[in-house]
Amino acid sequence: MSKREALAFSREEMREFGYQVIDQLIDYYEGRAQQPVTGELDHAALDAILREPLPRAGEPWREVLEQFEAQVVAPTNHVDHPRFFAYIPLANNFVGVMADALAAGYNIFNAVWLQGAGAAQVERLTVDWLRQIFGFPPDAGGTFVSGGSMANLTALAVARQVRLQGNMRDAVAYCSDQIHFAISRGLRVLGFAPDQLQRVPGDESYRLSLPRLRQAIAEDRAAGRKPFCVIATAGTTNTGAVDPLEELADYCQSEDLWLHVDGAYGAPAMLTARGQRALKGLQRADSLALDAHKWLFQPIECGVVLVRQRRWLSETFKEQGEYLKDVEQADDELNFMYQGVQLTRQFRALKLWMSFKVFGLDAISQAIETGFDNAELAEKLLRQAGCWEIVTPAQMAIVTFRYKPSGGDEALANRVTHDLVGRLLDDGFAFASGTQLREKTVLRMCANNPRTTAEDLEKTVNLMGRLGAELEASIVASTLN
Ligand SMILES: *Cc1c(COP(=O)(O)O)cnc(C)c1O
Repeated sequence: MSKREALAFSREEMREFGYQVIDQLIDYYEGRAQQPVTGELDHAALDAILREPLPRAGEPWREVLEQFEAQVVAPTNHVDHPRFFAYIPLANNFVGVMADALAAGYNIFNAVWLQGAGAAQVERLTVDWLRQIFGFPPDAGGTFVSGGSMANLTALAVARQVRLQGNMRDAVAYCSDQIHFAISRGLRVLGFAPDQLQRVPGDESYRLSLPRLRQAIAEDRAAGRKPFCVIATAGTTNTGAVDPLEELADYCQSEDLWLHVDGAYGAPAMLTARGQRALKGLQRADSLALDAHKWLFQPIECGVVLVRQRRWLSETFKEQGEYLKDVEQADDELNFMYQGVQLTRQFRALKLWMSFKVFGLDAISQAIETGFDNAELAEKLLRQAGCWEIVTPAQMAIVTFRYKPSGGDEALANRVTHDLVGRLLDDGFAFASGTQLREKTVLRMCANNPRTTAEDLEKTVNLMGRLGAELEASIVASTLN
């Protein structure tokens, strides 16, 4: 049988292929800041490519790699680019990338201790490091999942099991109006009806309002419903707002409610002094979702869920499979197939473990700190430019702002700000995204990429000012005509 029929490569071919991939990645890493942030997004042209018949015969790997660069990488907006400030930037790191290659290369089956004992120990250790970082008690546990959505879903499944034993009738969960849709979708997937999630209007800083929460819960109790869970956000995607965690923890304790914290974006700030002040009370959550592919700099996908009692995970997810009897010789805790909804699962903990070890926590803390500094600098530059209204100041590395037209017209301010996103996409030098904060259309910059420089920020703010003025002029001109 030929090597090809066994789907195998010769030593020489593996070398060439592998080195070619590494060289391409190094060129990308080294040249990234000089390249545009946005890809070529011409819908018509894109529609014409990558329509091919099933490939009966193979073609040389070099050609496939070239096609990948030309047709797959080219129309990509680079979320790890130092001038990508939209949504939540995903600034990965090379150690994590290599760890992903190793996990795939050795194809480690990280589901049952018997098959991947080393991997299970690494995952347990890495979860324990996170437990220490977030100040959870020694009995806490956790598991790696694909990302923030899955971490939230997993945590809410545990809350449902532990608090309701699966009986969801009349149960109600509460959150602010700034919640990520991962929460509402997660609850819907778990079988809750839409009215079983109460969105309590936030306060003027877009934080969950405790007085309004108290009132909503009291009313629901009086109406015979069963409040069971409060969902707080530690760093909202919109503005970086942190719900009042300490007060919520006190309240949930006194009312016997589950406190889930969606820290998908902001929780890693716990590694900095500023973050610790902002996140005070986080350590008292019953469950916490975080995304290591956001502010812990891992390649996509790397989410983690932590719960206060590690046995809650297996209580929620353990099932019996007779073909898996022999794995019972290890603690459930080390059989990660019992800690979440996946059986066969990637060894995601490896990238975080390796990054922590190679860079050290001090460097990672510093990298997070840089995000706070950069957002504060962006805010300062925007204020200095004079043509921006700061809507929410820099917090958790996010600042939101709106264009300030000369006449102070609200509708024009919203329109220019809205249209700016498209202009930035076309320009390609830098990218920020828009969002809606009550009646205001705003732009937001999330500056959590540690490789963003002061010059990147200055040039981006200048560019936005220029594009804003051009838009204002053309909108005003077109309404006069
Ligand atoms: C990004 C984010 C999520 C979803 O995480 P994914 O990794 O994209 O699934 C959930 N909540 C918050 C606050 C987020 O910022």
